[in-house]
Amino acid sequence: MADCLFCRIVKKQIPATIVQETANTLAFRDVNPRAPVHVLVIPKEHIESLMHWETKHASLLVELHQAIQSVARTEGIDKKGFRVAVNIGAEAGQTVPHVHYHVLGGRSLAWPPG
Ligand code: 5GP
Ligand code: ZN
Repeated sequence: MADCLFCRIVKKQIPATIVQETANTLAFRDVNPRAPVHVLVIPKEHIESLMHWETKHASLLVELHQAIQSVARTEGIDKKGFRVAVNIGAEAGQTVPHVHYHVLGGRSLAWPPG
């Protein structure tokens, strides 16, 4: 399968503002930010959506959560509060078929989202 958009960002074939990188995860700013802080945190491995996480990914899933924690701290939103959102499939508005965690913060966030 040809690389998806986020696989190409992982391979640095497409530029992105990277805020954090580990061996297995990448965090970069959303090109169309919906909040003062809007960072996408992804596994480098191509996993299509949250529905495709498997038991073999257990340690990667913990690493990804730790990457989210680290981004929240470095962006200064860990104490004030922030939101992690994952869109899954067409009806939820998932536009890139590589699982990504939106980390949103820096303003008051309405609940429920529209
Ligand atoms: P989704 O709608 O799939 O949950 O989120 C995809 C996100 O990727 C959107 O918020 C969109 O703004 C962002 N995005 C789309 N293309 C690019 C890109 O080329 N670079 C970056 N940094 N973000 C992108
Ligand atoms: Zn991919």
